[in-house]
This record gives sequence, C-alpha cells and structure tokens, in this order.
Amino acid sequence: MPIPVSFEFYPPKTDEQRAQLDRTAHKLKAHAPEYVSCTFGAGGSTLSYTSETVRHLNQHHGFDAAPHLSCVGGSREEIRELLRLYRALGCKRIVALRGDLPSGMGHPGDLRYASELIEFIRAEHGDTFHIEVGAYPETHPQAEDALTDLRHFKAKVEAGANGAITQYFYNPDAYFHFVDAVRRLGVDIPIIPGIMPISNFTQLRRFSEACGAEIPRWIGKRMQALGDDADAIRDFGADVVASLCERLIAGGAPSLHFYTLNLAKPTQTVLSRLGWAA
Ligand code: FAD
Repeated sequence: MPIPVSFEFYPPKTDEQRAQLDRTAHKLKAHAPEYVSCTFGAGGSTLSYTSETVRHLNQHHGFDAAPHLSCVGGSREEIRELLRLYRALGCKRIVALRGDLPSGMGHPGDLRYASELIEFIRAEHGDTFHIEVGAYPETHPQAEDALTDLRHFKAKVEAGANGAITQYFYNPDAYFHFVDAVRRLGVDIPIIPGIMPISNFTQLRRFSEACGAEIPRWIGKRMQALGDDADAIRDFGADVVASLCERLIAGGAPSLHFYTLNLAKPTQTVLSRLGWAA
C-alpha cells in the first residue's frame, strides 16, 4: 500500500448488524489498516455500543481500534468514565468530536466544543492518547464563516490534537486549499482525507445535505442519468472515488480514512482500482 489506510465503522445494534460487521472487518483486515475507528452517537443512546464494538474489534479482530468520543450532551463525569474505560481497554487513539445533538434534545453538555473536549482529555490523561479531530475542507455547516472555522480548527490543534480526519468531499481542490490555509496558520499536524465510497446515491445525497458535503453537479447529473442501474452506479462511483484518491495521493495526502458504513465491497472496489487489492 503506497500510503496507510484506516477504516471507520459504526456500532452495530442487532445480531444481524453484528454479523455484517464481522464479515466486513474480516475482509478489510486483509488491507492491513493502520487502525480502525468506531463512531459514537451523541446524547447517550449508543454509548455502550461504541465501547463494546471497540472492545470486539480490538480483542476479536486484533485491530488497533479507536473510539470516536463526542462531548455534546454529556457531563464531565460521563466523559471521564469513558476515558478510563478506553484506557483500560488499551486504546491508544481517540477521535474527539463535539458531535450533534439529536433534534429536540435539551442539555448541551458540560463541554461546548471539541477544543474543550481535547483540553479535558489532555488534563485527565496527558499524552496517553493520540487524538484525531474532525476537519471541514468545505467549511463546517454551522460555522459563522470559513475563516472563523479555520481559527476554531487551529484551536483544536493548540489544545493538543495530533491529527485530523476530514469530512468527506469529492472536490480535491477543497482539500488542497484547506491544507494550504491551515499550514499558513502554522498548523502542521497530518490532515487525512475522509473518503466516502459511493454505492447508494439516494443515501449519499441525504447524508451530504445533513453534513454540508457538496456533491459536484456533474456527479449528481451522471448518477441521475444512471437511474436504477445499481451496477452502473457502483461502477461510476468507484471510478470517481478512485480518481479522487489518486489525485489526493499525488498531492501529498499522508493517508486515507474510509467511511465504510460497515460494508466491505464499496471500499474494496476503490482499493482494487487503486491497484491495492489485498
Ligand atoms: P467543533 O470543532 O467543536 O466545531 C463545531 C462548530 O463550532 C464549527 O462550526 C466551529 O467553527 C464552531 N466552533 C468551534 N469552536 C468554537 C468557539 N470557541 N466559539 C464559537 N464557535 C466555535 N458525529 C457524531 O455524533 N459521532 C461521530 O462518531 C462522528 N464522527 C465524525 C468523524 C469525522 C472524521 C468527522 C469529520 C465528523 C464526525 N462527526 C461525528 C460529526 C461531527 O460531530 C459534527 O460535524 C459536529 O457538528 C462538529 O463536530 P466537531 O468536533 O468538528 O466540532
């Protein structure tokens, strides 16, 4: 593999989902990821699912598994407990986020922003954890403006982040401009592109509206024209994402983080088009 890869999973809640994650983890292990990560649902509902999944990925599959930890809706005591648990599980890396409160949920939590969560982790555990944070090449959807968002990103690095994983994007220039802009602000941590393989376009459009990721018009138009032809959509999607990865690697991306959605095939297809078949 010319550069390292990592894979993101979400915590399964049913036996069927658990079996699917096991199959996916087994297949993707052949690509020797640097680490895998497991998402976290803000507001408490999936607290234990995340830690159980991290434990399973670690102990059953032998991955270096990193929990995502978001602070929104949580108290300092709850976060302290989770950090103790992750340390006891031997986790070396944490993806630290603010998270988003499900609509209608009241209490914002004790820590308001990811930068405050990182300060908290460093105050409680020093340098025990390698901390990854979120980055938004197309600007976070709630940001006041793009420059303010960059300054808030820098605050996470000053608080102790070691690396950043981006929201997904399909326009490589957004990534290159973001990296240039943060380097000009004196930020020197690795900025790792988050890669979303395309398999289900309706689902992708829904995600993208929620998280502010732009689907370029030409991709949307081609997808629309392909209609219900699932094979053609997957084929075109794999071409688009593989050529995005090629451009990112050629432009100096240090590694790639794949949002797998617990499916092996879309990620494996991209990796094999890159000539990285396991
Ligand atoms: P922050 O960095 O805190 O920023 C959030 C917003 O607040 C931005 O608009 C920023 O400009 C602004 N801001 C920051 N600091 C200040 C300040 N001091 N004053 C005023 N404004 C400020 N969500 C989950 O719920 N679970 C997950 O597992 C998860 N995994 C993710 C993984 C990755 C790689 C990424 C990129 C996102 C993930 N998310 C996840 C989504 C994330 O939680 C949301 O995008 C959330 O809205 C912002 O989180 P953040 O950590 O980037 O927030």
